[in-house]
Parts: sequence; C-alpha cells; structure tokens
Amino acid sequence: ISVRLHVMYMHSASYRHRSGKKIMASHIVGYPRMGPKRELKFALESFWDKKSSAEELEKVAADLRASIWKQMADAGIKYIPGNTFSYYDQVLDTIALLGAVPPRYNWSGGEIGFDTYFSMARGNASVPAMEMTKWFDTNYHFIVPELGPDVKFSYASHKAVNEYKEAKALGVDTVPVLVGPFTFLSLSKPAKGVEKTFNKLSLLDKILPIYKEVIADLKAAGASWIQFDEPILVMDLESHQLQAFTKAYSELESSFSGLNVLIETYFADVPEEAFKAVTSLSGVSAIGFDLVRGAKTLDLIKGGFPAGKYLFAGVVDGRNIWANDLAASLTTLQALEGIVGKDKLVVSTSSSLLHTAVDLVNEPKLDKEIKSWLAFAAQKVVEVDALAKALSGAKDEAFFSANAAAQASRKSSPRVTNEAVQKAAAALRGSDHRRATNVSARLDAQQKKLNLPILPTTTIGSFPQTLELRRVRREYKAKKISEDGYVKAIKEEISKVVKLQEELDIDVLVHGEPERNDMVEYFGEQLSGFAFTANGWVQSYGSRCVKPPIIYGDVSRPNPMTVFWSSTAQSMTKRPMKGMLTGPVTILNWSFVRNDQPRFETCYQIALAIKDEVEDLEKAGINVIQIDEAALREGLPLRKAEHAFYLDWAVHSFRITNCGVQDTTQIHTHMCYSNFNDIIHSIIDMDADVITIENSRSDEKLLSVFREGVKYGAGIGPGVYDIHSPRIPSTEEIADRVNKMLAVLDTNILWVNPDCGLKTRKYAEVKPALQNMVAAAKQIRTQL
Ligand code: GLN
Ligand code: ZN
Repeated sequence: ISVRLHVMYMHSASYRHRSGKKIMASHIVGYPRMGPKRELKFALESFWDKKSSAEELEKVAADLRASIWKQMADAGIKYIPGNTFSYYDQVLDTIALLGAVPPRYNWSGGEIGFDTYFSMARGNASVPAMEMTKWFDTNYHFIVPELGPDVKFSYASHKAVNEYKEAKALGVDTVPVLVGPFTFLSLSKPAKGVEKTFNKLSLLDKILPIYKEVIADLKAAGASWIQFDEPILVMDLESHQLQAFTKAYSELESSFSGLNVLIETYFADVPEEAFKAVTSLSGVSAIGFDLVRGAKTLDLIKGGFPAGKYLFAGVVDGRNIWANDLAASLTTLQALEGIVGKDKLVVSTSSSLLHTAVDLVNEPKLDKEIKSWLAFAAQKVVEVDALAKALSGAKDEAFFSANAAAQASRKSSPRVTNEAVQKAAAALRGSDHRRATNVSARLDAQQKKLNLPILPTTTIGSFPQTLELRRVRREYKAKKISEDGYVKAIKEEISKVVKLQEELDIDVLVHGEPERNDMVEYFGEQLSGFAFTANGWVQSYGSRCVKPPIIYGDVSRPNPMTVFWSSTAQSMTKRPMKGMLTGPVTILNWSFVRNDQPRFETCYQIALAIKDEVEDLEKAGINVIQIDEAALREGLPLRKAEHAFYLDWAVHSFRITNCGVQDTTQIHTHMCYSNFNDIIHSIIDMDADVITIENSRSDEKLLSVFREGVKYGAGIGPGVYDIHSPRIPSTEEIADRVNKMLAVLDTNILWVNPDCGLKTRKYAEVKPALQNMVAAAKQIRTQL
C-alpha cells in the first residue's frame, strides 16, 4: 500500500487490503528519534558546538521524521504516531507547549525557540540546566517540570500541530501524541520555595485550557485521532489522584467531539482502580495497554471492557530487542477479539519503541542465528503489521513460519543453554549465602592484615581516561597494535596511576581501569552468553545514547577477566590494591535481558560468574575487592508491592559473589546514589565490608538515615566531593563534610573518598582535589 492510498483508508477501524480482505488496525506508540546511525545526536552536538546552523539541524530532524513516517506507512501501520520526535525530550517539549519556563531562563514570551529550549535542557553560561530524572524504570531521562502556584502558562510551542501538518503534506495522516496532563503534573516537582505547601494537581485547571487550544489546533489541521500518554496510571496512585485524572479528562471532553481520543498506558499492568477510572471515561474512545509487562491487565480486560471502545493491545515489546513470539501473540489477540469485537481491536506495541534499538539492518556483523532471534524498532513495526494482517485472515505464512523457526532455534540452541550453569543457578534458589563471620569480626581480621589508619582514603576505581588511552584501546581492538604493545601501554598507565596515588598518600589504591571502555561492556565481552551490537543505541538523555549488551544465553566465565591487571597493579605497590568488578545486578540492569527466563535466574548466573572472578582475585593475593552495584536501585520495580521480591534476589545475587572469601578479604561495594533511605535495610543486608556511595548533592538525605537510628556497622564512605563537576573542593570544605558524618557515624567505620569514579575528569582537576581530600582526612585524624 502506498503512502497516499493508505491515507484513504484511515477513517474506518479496519480497512480493506488489496486482496479484498478487511485488515485489522495496527498502531505504534512511539518511535526512536535518534536515527539508525545516531544522525540526530551528531546534528545536535554540531549545532551546540556552533559548527552548524539551526537550519541544518532542522533539516536532519525533518528528514528523520519523514523517513520514519514513510517506513511505518509502507509497512502498513494504520495509526502512525506524530510528535514523538523530540530535539531533546518529550517532557521538555510539553514544558514548552505549556510555556512553563522557569523564570531564571528569562524567557520573554512568544513561541519558544532553540535558545530557551536548550537552555532549559543543558543550561547556559549563566544558568544551570533543569533537573533530569529517569523516565519510570527505563534508562531514558526526562527533564523534570518545575511548577509553582504562579507559573503563567501559555500555548508557547506549536510543535505538535506543525509536525501533524508536516506529515500530512507528505501524505501521512498521523496520530499526534501528547504527554497527558495528569502524567505531566504528576512527574513535576514544586518550584523552589513552595516545596511543602504545593499541590501539583491543583494546576490542572491552569493547564487544561492550553491542552484545549492544542486539541482545537490539531482538529483544525485535520487530525481525527489524538493520543495522550498517561503512563503514570501504572503506578501506585491514591484515589484523590485518580479522581483528579477523571476530572481532567471530563473537563477536556467538550473539546473531544469529532475526535477519537486514545489514552495510552505502558510499562506495567494497570492497577484495578486505575483500570476502572480509565475505562469509564466517556469522552475517550480508545485505551492502550502494555500486555507484555501487564499480564494482570489482560485479566482485567477479560473481566470486562466497555462496549464500543477500542482496545489498543500492546503485544510487541517496546522495551527489549527480542523478536515477538508471533504465534503466542496471535492467540492473545484472538482471545481479545472475542471480548472487544473485531472492529475494536488494534494491534500495538507495549510502549514507545524509544527504549529499544533502531534497526537490525545495521548489524551486518552480528551472528546470523542470534540475529534471527532479534527485532529492533524497525522490525517491530513489521511484526505489528504482520499480526494485524494475520488476525484478519491475511496471514503472511512465510513470515510466520520464519518467526516460528527462529523461536524454536532460540529454545533449543546449544549457545543458549549451558546445563551446568542452569543447574548451579537453580541450586542457589531458596538457600542463603552469607559469609561465615559477622561484619565486625571480619573488619577486625581485615584491619590486622591491612593495617589502615582511621578514616582511610580511597577512590572509586577509574582515573581520567585520556584521549591517548582511548586511542590505544581503539587501535588494539582494530588490531592495529599488537597485544604486546597494548599490554605495555596499559601497564605504563597503571604504573602512572599507582605512583600518583602513592604520592598523594592514598591508603587503598586502585589500578585506574584504563583497560575498560565501560563497566558493563568490559565484563560482557569476556562472559559467555553476551552479544554486542554495532549500532544498537538507545537514547539515554538528550544526545546521549547507550549501547546495552544483549544477554542471550546462560552466562559463564570461561577465563579470569581482571586478575592479570589487578595483580600487575598490586605488584607495583606495597599498599593494598583494590580488585575492581561490576556486580551482577548492575550488569543485568544495564543490559538487554533474555525474556525466556525470569530476570533473577539470569542474575544468579551472572553472580556465579563474578563469584569465580572474586575467588581468583583472592587467590592471586588481592585482599580488597570492590564489586560495584551502581545500578541496584534503578532496578526497583515501579510498584511498591514488588520491591521486596526484587530486593531479595538482587541482594542475594550480590552476596553470592563474595560469600566464599576469607574473613581477611575485604569486600567493598559502590553505589551511585544517595537516596537509599527507603532501601537501607537491603543495603545493610548486602553485608559488604565497606560501601562507598554518592553523596554529592546533599549530606542531609544520607545523614538523616543514621540520625533516625539505623544501625550501620560496616565501613562506609559517603562521597566527600562531587566528581560530576570540574570544581576543585577545598580542604576545609571536605573536612567540614567529614566532620558532619562523624557526628552520626562511628569514627572507625568512616572512609574518605570521592563520590564516584574519576574517568570523566581531567588530571588537572583530579590531582588537587585528591590532594585536598587526603589533607582533610589527615587533619581530622590528628584531632581525634
Ligand atoms: N568503578 C567504577 C568507576 O570508578 C564505578 C563507576 C560507577 O559507579 N558508575 O568508574
Ligand atoms: Zn558511581
């Protein structure tokens, strides 16, 4: 079906295929913006660096949008999303749409341009950027709206309607997507000064008139459908919040006439109360559900779905890279068809495809068999369409049987299954894994061996990654320099880092991680069961993308991964050298994870592999081993009821890695956040000997835990300065922070360290900062 023809069929729920058969409708919730080769990233960065013009950036963006719309239209998708493109973030776009610019950006009204937009996103010479935080449980970060009672809202960005018209001019009738008013306000934070008194949802009255203007605009431009994303509905909400949601959409109802309105939910099942609320909105004609992560929603739908409304069934996973099990989805869809009726069922993705990789076509080097198991965004669009056709009886048999063959090969492939690993992991379940001795006895034994001063100093692992280092790694990978040449270069770097730390008089040293590109990739590349892509990028924030490894099979560790470098580093110094590993939960949470077994199963397997490494390091004479769990907290499920189960297996996995070491081996862990007040008991249960944590933004949050009387007996190193900033902290300032900690923590458990690794900093910053840090520790030691 050509783009133009396709448009003609847009008005009925199902439309006729060339074959004369009625085709079930298909829909995509949203699509990646970055482009198959990160075109938008490079265009943005070049614009920010003033190397290209606004027009050039706009041209790249328009070309990307056009090719995405065309691709979906060509694939046969009926409801093609519009306005899911963004120069930075869809929540920031909504801030712009509503004119909710914080006063410090000095916006003078009118249509918001790049200047104001990017100042909010990234800061400018005089004002820092707005806060950013994770979008639900994804690795995507959105800009947090800052709202107070006196924000003056105005319709200040016409992006949604402009993109609608732009697509229309190309012959594609899109469904404009807006972040819904309820989700927008729920995700906002109160502006400075009104934190305690402010009820965010009270602003609904002020923003709904703007939404009405936008709706009217879209209608006037010809839109017949509008999608409101309300993912907040999957969270634990109180009834007054749901009432505000219902009120908001009843209020908008008058502007919905002549329109089909879709409310889209995603990332989890919708709790029963929210399900009731969203399905009983009279002005809303369609509701989208995530049926991949929302098995419970499926039951609710089976229990009753309002007659006459459309069900957008999200059966194709927007959060992962696996090919859909088409036969299974078809069965689900057929069951749903029986409930809502043929004309009211729309095949969709579970969420926006923003959270998956873009196009498998750009992975020529990926192993063929593994590739047959995968589907990136472009392939998922085709899957949605194939399911819609199959439902209508126009099943593409060849496509379905190729898919079935791939599913079968994935189930039986020897590269996926490793019986020994499966057995070992299964044996872990239900049993407990703890070190034999309690932490205070262990700390005593370790102290006899390590003989550290009080307030010992250390760093988190990485040292500055110079351009030269990156070049050496790149050339080694490309086989442009020999193994010998590479080892020599890395050894030299380690020796430099060791000498520097000795000069600075740091107590527990690190080797600096010069051989690592990334703390997960480095391990994934050496473990079995992992695959890597060339272009499998996913947007993290703004122009930043990550390329998560793919865990496709049972994980094992064929060879030691870090022992050579750590023992080389230890041989260069008499001081203790920390072995440096990434923990199982962090490896899991920063990868695309297999969907054919529970996450905890995969995590246990990784834990066993890391356990092998820990024990080999110990055998090689490494007495201090740090196992980073930077991402433990971000794996927390969206809903509170599921937290305990996750924390239980995550913490268990961590303990598995080190339960077998001697009392005298000191296990450290590191975490990249300070807001762990709610999970403090799980952190204690990890039973590490020493934990170093980020603490850069405020001491208060962290200190309050201990003030409230939480007993913490293990070593703890709350970061004494912020490594995310180039600023060099003074000795006084660091001493001051250490003294604050000493007020609530025992002298003999406190460590002094920066709050994260130093790899993004320059030596010119790192040297004086660490100098001051050591000076502060020494100064306080003399006063104790
Ligand atoms: N050991 C790692 C480093 O120093 C930890 C990084 C992190 O916590 N994100 O780079
Ligand atoms: Zn960190």
